[in-house]
Amino acid sequence: MIDTHCHLEMLQFKDDLQEVLNRAKEAGIEALVTIGSDFKGCKGAVDLSKKYDFVYAAVGIHPHDAKDLSEEIFGQIRSWISESRAYRTTCEGGDIPRIVALGEIGLDYYYDHSPREIQRTVFAKQLSYAKECDLPVVIHSRDAREDTFRILEESGVNKGVMHCFSGDADMAEHALGLGLHISFAGPVTFKKSAVLREVAKMVPDERLLIETDAPYLAPDPLRGKRNEPAFIVHTAKHIAALRGVTLEDIDRMTTLNAKRLFGIGMPEEARIVYKIRDSLYLNITNRCTNKCSFCIRYQSDFVKGHNLRLESEPTEKELESAIGDPSRYSEVVFCGYGEPLLRLDVVKSVAAWVKERGGKVRINTNGQGNLINKRNILPELKGLVDSLSISLDAQDEETYNRICGSSFSNAFAGVIDFIRVACNYIPDVQATVIDIEGVDVDKCRQITDDLGVKLRVRELDVVG
Ligand code: SF4
Repeated sequence: MIDTHCHLEMLQFKDDLQEVLNRAKEAGIEALVTIGSDFKGCKGAVDLSKKYDFVYAAVGIHPHDAKDLSEEIFGQIRSWISESRAYRTTCEGGDIPRIVALGEIGLDYYYDHSPREIQRTVFAKQLSYAKECDLPVVIHSRDAREDTFRILEESGVNKGVMHCFSGDADMAEHALGLGLHISFAGPVTFKKSAVLREVAKMVPDERLLIETDAPYLAPDPLRGKRNEPAFIVHTAKHIAALRGVTLEDIDRMTTLNAKRLFGIGMPEEARIVYKIRDSLYLNITNRCTNKCSFCIRYQSDFVKGHNLRLESEPTEKELESAIGDPSRYSEVVFCGYGEPLLRLDVVKSVAAWVKERGGKVRINTNGQGNLINKRNILPELKGLVDSLSISLDAQDEETYNRICGSSFSNAFAGVIDFIRVACNYIPDVQATVIDIEGVDVDKCRQITDDLGVKLRVRELDVVG
């Protein structure tokens, strides 16, 4: 896990910083970003980042202190950043500058500790510098939504995070539209934070971050205590429950997002098997006979923090070795970044191996297995596959061709036929559709009702 926002240089940690860092490591925190917000804080953050190899720094002037930003201080910030690019730490992810962001910067019209005009000028000036040196920004915005977004848009900055997010869904949508990440801290765990919890459910996997903002805002059940990085686990567990995934899933996703945003270490290599919740997914090919307009493969190499962009297709032996004991999982799912039935022989062989070892098998397919293999393959899957999830995707051929771009001219009819025949051989068959413009979910339901299978309606961009 990565705590993307804390203030370890503050007085609250002066007596026991080493113990705090030890507890962070014991809690599984592999890196943290300590944030300077005034001149003294920036200096403290830079010093800590040089002293501890898993501590990275952000430097910038907080809106509270905007009135104190002199040319001399701004010059010091610039030289810390350029020195940091020369002063690098070598780790498994390569050479990483110790200063990974510019922040905490922004606007605070709640306290108004600096005159608003000065806050705006200082925010714009720091954004301009962040753009010049290509650093992500850490943004504080309180009661200043309109000006924050206006100045951000004028700056052209599109890499950063809205820290300790406390807004509503509209504000989150606006920030996401600008390319920003959204970071949640302790308040998302508080009983009265119903709006915030809704936002925490809707932020896309690849834009989600977590932080403590320590020493402030300790999460429930530690609310009121001095906060510290190890407490991030409570926030992570809470968000995992909200999003219907496991703590392990949230850890993986948010760690990957932090690494990518701040350039801390390298994302993991491509996976041939990957776990989400208690299911194990098999990524056996990146090839597909469709080019769906909504396909996640065209947007990202990652699903729930797993890199699925294969360099080569795995063999049966590689898959079996990576699966280990299939009975440990609720199901083993042929899925990945392509159409598994393009490799029918591998599917049959590995499915048989999984069944022999007490596992359950599901295939997520585009329903073109019979077209691909030029025969009815469903009898061959009988006894090997417990459930099939088939993408119906549209209510008619015209819509299907438009959004799925299949390489088969008769694909839609082929999918319908595949669903119908599958019911004779596979115990559990369901169809899926994504609720996007142009897709008539009610008509899709009529089709699946006629075929006698369940229809699962999926949300756009929610995968796994
Ligand atoms: S069928 Fe699935 S893998 Fe293939 S393009 Fe469509 S969404 Fe992507």
